[in-house]
Amino acid sequence: MTRLAERIEAVEQRIGSACRRAGRARDAVTLVAVTKSIGPETARQAFELGLTHLAENRPQQLWARAAVLPPGVHWHMIGHLQRNKIERTLPLVEWIHGVDSARLLDALEEAAGARGQPVHVFLECNASGEASKQGFAPADLEPLLPRLAALRWVRVRGLMTMAAYDATPENCRPTFALLRQLRDRLRGQVTAPHDLEHLSMGMSNDFEVAIEEGATMVRLGTVLFEGIETEAS
Ligand SMILES: *Cc1c(COP(=O)(O)O)cnc(C)c1O
Repeated sequence: MTRLAERIEAVEQRIGSACRRAGRARDAVTLVAVTKSIGPETARQAFELGLTHLAENRPQQLWARAAVLPPGVHWHMIGHLQRNKIERTLPLVEWIHGVDSARLLDALEEAAGARGQPVHVFLECNASGEASKQGFAPADLEPLLPRLAALRWVRVRGLMTMAAYDATPENCRPTFALLRQLRDRLRGQVTAPHDLEHLSMGMSNDFEVAIEEGATMVRLGTVLFEGIETEAS
């Protein structure tokens, strides 16, 4: 087994254990591998080792990666997306995690409609309340919901958050629990094609706690890839 295969296996074990602790099925959680810190060749190896959901946080790098990786990759855009980058990004991605304004929703709807291709999005929520974080304030989500009725191509599939970094992952639990409670409360207020089924939360430092609190997508970079390229050379 290569170092990367071992690393993936170790992360897989940890995800499996967290699912078991929470009484959840393993397939209720998708591992989204964040490839921003590795080269395209390592990203390709990760894909070949079974990580079919890959993510970038900068549009330009996503465009470059998507051009050289196999067409079977399910691409996720996880960072802030400026409206002038929508046109080139939309044809490449299935999921956009960081939607943080009504203007962006409307611009995505227009572009997705013009292409006739649906796009699945997460509303980013600043559930930790840090001033530096992007996203809707928790109180601003409910007033947004009536606008979703006008969206046909943009499908709001869930909420996404970034916890404050904390050396003790347990301290991130209230942020994740808050996102889940918000989702549970708002879920009954949306209609198809929206469903708020998903919670995109949990990074390398805190993904096990996030899974215990209901994450359906964890976005992992460091824990999978740190040091992998230097070890290989
Ligand atoms: C980089 C990044 C991640 C992955 O972070 P790690 O701590 O390396 O796992 C997840 N989500 C977003 C939005 C990121 O930018």
